[in-house]
Amino acid sequence: MIKLATTSLLLAAGTMLATAPAAAASTYAKTKYPIVLAHGMAGFDKIGPLDYWYGIPQDLTSNGASVHLTQVASFQSSEVRGEQLLNQVQDILAITGAEKVNLIGHSHGNQSIRYVAGTIPLRIASATSVGGVTKGSVVADLIKQASDLAVIGAPLTTLLTSVVNGFGALIGLAAGETLSQDSLAGLNSLTTAGAASFNAVFPAGVPTTSCGEGSYSANGVNFYSWSGTGVLTNVLDISDAGMALTSLAFAGQANDGLVSRCSSHLGKVIRDNYRMNHLDEVNQILGLVSIFETNPKSVFRQHANRLKLAGL
Ligand code: CA
Repeated sequence: MIKLATTSLLLAAGTMLATAPAAAASTYAKTKYPIVLAHGMAGFDKIGPLDYWYGIPQDLTSNGASVHLTQVASFQSSEVRGEQLLNQVQDILAITGAEKVNLIGHSHGNQSIRYVAGTIPLRIASATSVGGVTKGSVVADLIKQASDLAVIGAPLTTLLTSVVNGFGALIGLAAGETLSQDSLAGLNSLTTAGAASFNAVFPAGVPTTSCGEGSYSANGVNFYSWSGTGVLTNVLDISDAGMALTSLAFAGQANDGLVSRCSSHLGKVIRDNYRMNHLDEVNQILGLVSIFETNPKSVFRQHANRLKLAGL
């Protein structure tokens, strides 16, 4: 299930995108430091690191940014994924000769970028979390609960069955298929308890109140976040149905289908209620997002401009 691209492949993709700005249409997103994108969990190893951010790297590049894609294990603990990203960031720093990079992580990529920012802060200009699981997800809590019940053969409640089915649909698991050990490690990292353990080691930017902002900067790293609270946003997108099931886990609390509004906060909260679900945040599936909301590509482009204006 876990498939890692080779470093040379990753850098080939990064270099390809990094060379494109010569023909960039504008300098609106031309940040001082390269932008490194870190993906989230789930079955995205099937679509690859470029298509994960549907159209976003191309949009940033055509506006002058130097964009680098990375790929870590789709399902692993925050620490294993963080170490994999750290190695790739060090390669990008070495090859570009850049003094620092701007990290942007989606979903479980939140923990990956914070791991790297906490390990080599002098080389990181900013860490931005998009729909990030800063304080864990009740979806992960319930799936872990269902998994524990399955071990002892106990029946699942209707809520647990709905959440498990919705989650399975989102990550591409066939009915009846069970999570692998690596998947369970990934899941444990995303529970409320797992996230709290990680936050104890990497506290920078994490809000100390239940739904406030975090420190805007720590150890020279600037922290930002944004997220959505839409679930059913596009009738043509089949992934909305799975998200509608997992969103039941939140019992009415604002969420993007997989992460609550408050859990997504890290550093400066740019906005936490876009009409976007968890996949809309990265312009999925195939650009099927709400037509009544700012396009996700615009949100990334505006953020790159924000970094540029901040001298980052
Ligand atoms: Ca969508």
